[in-house]
Amino acid sequence: MDGALGEWRELLGERATVAPDAYGRNLTEFAARSLTAVLRPTSREEVQAIVAVAARHRVPLYPVSAGRNWGLGSRLPVRDGCALVDLGLMNRILAVDEELHYAVVEPGVTQRQLADALAGGPCMLNVTGSAEHTSVVGNTLERGVGMLGLRTRDLRALEAVLGTGEVVRTGHWAAEGSGGPDWHHHPDGLGPDVTGLFAQSAFGIVTAAVIGLHPRQEYELALVNAPDDGLAGHVDALRRLRQMDAFVDRIEVNSADDPRLIGIRDEARTAAWATWAAVRASEKAVLAAWKDRIAAAFGDVEFFGAADPSLPEPARTRLRKLSGEPGDEYVDAMAGRPVDTRRAFALDDDPAFPGFVCALPAVPFAGAHVTAIVAAARRIDADTGVHTHLTFNSVSAHSMEGFFRVMFDRADPAQVATAHAWSARAQREFAALGYRPMRTGVDTMAYANGHTAMLRAIKHALDPASLMSPGRYIAS
Ligand SMILES: Cc1cc2nc3c(=O)[nH]c(=O)nc-3n(C[C@H](O)[C@H](O)[C@H](O)COP(=O)(O)OP(=O)(O)OC[C@H]3O[C@@H](n4cnc5c(N)ncnc54)[C@H](O)[C@@H]3O)c2cc1C
Repeated sequence: MDGALGEWRELLGERATVAPDAYGRNLTEFAARSLTAVLRPTSREEVQAIVAVAARHRVPLYPVSAGRNWGLGSRLPVRDGCALVDLGLMNRILAVDEELHYAVVEPGVTQRQLADALAGGPCMLNVTGSAEHTSVVGNTLERGVGMLGLRTRDLRALEAVLGTGEVVRTGHWAAEGSGGPDWHHHPDGLGPDVTGLFAQSAFGIVTAAVIGLHPRQEYELALVNAPDDGLAGHVDALRRLRQMDAFVDRIEVNSADDPRLIGIRDEARTAAWATWAAVRASEKAVLAAWKDRIAAAFGDVEFFGAADPSLPEPARTRLRKLSGEPGDEYVDAMAGRPVDTRRAFALDDDPAFPGFVCALPAVPFAGAHVTAIVAAARRIDADTGVHTHLTFNSVSAHSMEGFFRVMFDRADPAQVATAHAWSARAQREFAALGYRPMRTGVDTMAYANGHTAMLRAIKHALDPASLMSPGRYIAS
């Protein structure tokens, strides 16, 4: 290992170090992995050189973009013995096209940075509910979900350094340099689309991505309340309206104890479930027609627009995010106080920040399925003695991401063990019911996906020495 670190030092100087302990800390209290080095490249060329050294010395690499994968492992690799490639210094916005709605960004570009670059223009980023200083590329590669739906839907092409050291560009980007007006207007390239191979995978280090942007437009929010015994009908009514495009993704069905609802729950709003759903509001006549339709579908609904004088804070926050403005509000709500998320280890090295572990099953957008998995979650809660906060985020007109999380006291080993046992059991039991994870944490990567042999063959071709993110989403 000395040999590899020595070579990386020659290459990167002080940007190649032995791993400080901080890299092992994480708010989920997963066991730290041993790291052979932390490497902080500033360019694709440096990434290529890092891979060449790794190949010579057979040291696996684990890339992270901003490393704020909270709840799933923060910046921990899946396996011991990796050199962590921290891409935070590769933070250039390489291009913005306001006509064809895309930005080309390096992995260290944060939501805040891109939102600022787009401010006042005609298009905006699909921001997530996570912190301002999370990575657009990192979240997209994890298949994160923004306020306007699945981030991978916005991914048009990317550039990656493979385990072989080769640089590839996907989509039509591969043709850049051969003349022509623009390479990023069309999503899939020509022939088999390989962009998707790099999401939730272990084939390479993504060094830039083409991120589709959204037209900047006005939304109104519907807050729809439902009792527990009305949940199935509530979800089915939401789906029908989503299928008609009355609502945009992500519709968010929350159990009423969700910390992000503090400030809107009061004597008048006590139902067991509270759903946020956004309606396009730029065309007032269209908005009015949808509001009539929505009001007729639900007994208990309120509407909030950005111009409302007495807007409750949770509605204001959501409308801000829907207008492409990221913020730390949901992190603050979790902590119960403001948190400075600019610091790389902000939540992870703060023992007072609540412990947090989650399970993220894919659930059909149908009342019967939602109530079935809620019943399973409550059964597991009763057995394990935890309390799960339940959210369902629509990712399409047909499917939802369950975002189930348990918070715990990080200083109490018994609570930590219980929360971890909950996560493993919940994921296993949900999968047995047919609700397989759509994302998972570094301690729960082991699952079969039915095409393991094909993935291994691709892995062997793109990363023959198994240098890239060992154990991540691809069984080895
Ligand atoms: C209060 C709160 C709210 C949240 N809200 C949301 C939400 O609304 N939506 C959501 O999706 N998540 C949410 N999260 C979870 C998480 O914080 C985000 O998903 C966050 O964006 C992930 O961290 P990151 O952007 O720094 O990505 P990273 O941690 O950098 O990347 C995630 C993973 O992708 C892989 N990866 C990253 N970069 C590369 C690369 N360049 N090449 C190859 N592989 C790479 C790595 O395996 C890495 O571990 C929330 C968390 C909290 C605590």
